[in-house]
Amino acid sequence: MEATGRRGETAAEAKEALENGEVPVGCLMVYNNEVIGKGKNEVNETKNATRHAEMVAIDQAIDWCHKQKKRMEEVFLHTVLYVTVEPCIMCAAALRMMKIPLVVYGCQNERFGGCGSVLNISSDTLTDTGEPFQCIAGYRSEEAVEMLKIFYRQENPNAPKSKVRKKECSK
Ligand SMILES: [Zn+2]
Repeated sequence: MEATGRRGETAAEAKEALENGEVPVGCLMVYNNEVIGKGKNEVNETKNATRHAEMVAIDQAIDWCHKQKKRMEEVFLHTVLYVTVEPCIMCAAALRMMKIPLVVYGCQNERFGGCGSVLNISSDTLTDTGEPFQCIAGYRSEEAVEMLKIFYRQENPNAPKSKVRKKECSK
C-alpha cells in the first residue's frame, strides 16, 4: 500500500475516535510495508489518560513482535509512525524510548505538542531518553484540524465562535 493510503487509514482511525466521543487522533505503525500497530485515542473509553493513539499502537506493535518472534529493537528501528496530530510530550518521549526513527503527522498540537509546538522532545539532546526522531509535518493537516474542530465544538457548545473557529489543533 502506498503512503497516501496509509494516511487515509490514520484519518479513518481518528474519525472512529471522534464518533466514540474521543479526541480524534488516529495513527498507524508501518514496518516493511506492513501495518504492525494502529490506534485511536481511547482516553474516555478506558478512563485512562495515557491511552493516546500512539500508546495503543505501540502496544499492538510490541504484541506483533512477540507473535512474529522478532526483536522489538530491530523492528522499531525500521518503523514509521503515521499520526493525524503532532504527538504530545508524553508520546514523543515514548517514541524516543522505542527508538522509532520517523514520524509523519498532520497538524500541530498547540497545547501539548512534543515535536516543536510546546517542547522539542523529538529532537532535543536528552540523555537516557532514547534517540531523537525525525518528523515530517503537514500532510492532510486540514482534515485533522477539521475533525478536532468538530470535536471541540461538541465538547463545548458554549465556546465563543472566535475560539471554536481558531485554526488550532490540540488534543
Ligand atoms: Zn500523546
